[in-house]
Amino acid sequence: MGKVLIIGAGGVGTVVAHKVAQNADVFTDIMIASRTKEKCDAVVKAIGNPSIKTAKVDADNVDELVALFESFRPEIVINVALPYQDLTIMEACLKTGTNYLDTANYEPKDVAHFEYSWQWAYKKRFEDAGLTAILGCGFDPGVSGVYTAYAAKHHFDEIQYLDIVDCNAGNHHKAFATNFNPEINIREITQNGRYYENGQWVTTKPLEIHKQLTYPNIGPRDSYLLYHEELESLVKNYPSIRRARFWMTFGQEYLTHLRVIQDIGMARIDPIDYQGMKIVPLQFLKAVLPNPQDLGENYDGETSIGCRIRGLKDGKEHTYYIYNNCSHQAAYKETGMQGVSYTTGVPAMIGAMMYLKGLWKRPGVWNVEEFDPDPFMEQLNKQGLPWHEVFDEDLEL
Ligand code: NDP
Repeated sequence: MGKVLIIGAGGVGTVVAHKVAQNADVFTDIMIASRTKEKCDAVVKAIGNPSIKTAKVDADNVDELVALFESFRPEIVINVALPYQDLTIMEACLKTGTNYLDTANYEPKDVAHFEYSWQWAYKKRFEDAGLTAILGCGFDPGVSGVYTAYAAKHHFDEIQYLDIVDCNAGNHHKAFATNFNPEINIREITQNGRYYENGQWVTTKPLEIHKQLTYPNIGPRDSYLLYHEELESLVKNYPSIRRARFWMTFGQEYLTHLRVIQDIGMARIDPIDYQGMKIVPLQFLKAVLPNPQDLGENYDGETSIGCRIRGLKDGKEHTYYIYNNCSHQAAYKETGMQGVSYTTGVPAMIGAMMYLKGLWKRPGVWNVEEFDPDPFMEQLNKQGLPWHEVFDEDLEL
């Protein structure tokens, strides 16, 4: 049915490649391309399907991307490289008539700041070209938006309060490691917090607000308010929302390491002189930290990510909690990667499947909640991320 090009052969790219290969009725031709071709070859070897093609590409370079797209002619590109590459890949899609999907919004390398404006600015160009761009199709952003759309479609007339809750109760048995790209992860967590209330954005100091929340099958965990990109699109697409927040769990050990990393200047993203060379401390740190892709083997426990929603149905107030729990070991057994890569890669594959089946095909640039959630929700249950619903219980928030 469809030709797909995956860009990025990291933790998430590896999961996407496995899941795409498992759905051969939809994805008939597959290529995985990244900065280091050997990593793509290793993924193909692990999958054991030699018909998957591989290529080397520098996704910061539009001309290289265009040449690759013209030679392979994919219908859709799944961008699971880094957020820095979003715009170059979107440019190459426009130049070659290729549809686009990613899991994280654009972020310039030299400022730790992310927002959708840069990618939303492409809406008219994608519309005019008759091409679909699906933004933020991992778990959060991604499934968090689809859950919200599903709640709005089936359970509420008006969503008023939305809390996205993200718990990783896994243990990788390392003193300190991040679960996805350390550079992107540390940039995200060390930013100011931000949430939406009564039509305004409220800024907090990094990790200033925290609360103990109880996660299914896990129990209580300290959860910290962060800014997360899907809040921006969700409050725009659901104007009835009065308050929207995002919470993520961190252990004390993790936070202590993070504080030391910042205090000693290793979280800096500006280049410094080192023995006549320019190095970016955070990029150097990435090189010495454990590779998130190697965490899977000894990772136990599970993740639990969901949406806790309060709003009105038929004039009455209701609460609703929808979530998925994902076992790190089960993810590892299936794909060789831990649960955080798995929960991101599976929805990216499903989003591309939605496009190729014609269910999420609409010229323009869209966030996931702007499409019909039902066929996506059905696939979540089939593809390894089953969801559960809790009605009218205390949300703790
Ligand atoms: P990794 O660092 O493991 O992988 C990134 C991959 O992209 C690597 O293979 C890397 O190549 C490749 N890459 C980097 N720069 C370039 C370039 N210029 N040209 C070509 N390839 C390049 O990251 P993850 O797999 O953990 O994360 C991938 C994406 O998923 C990120 O954007 C991240 O923000 C997003 N994400 C989204 C989540 C969600 O729920 N929505 C959750 C977790 C992650 P090399 O190996 O050579 O460096």
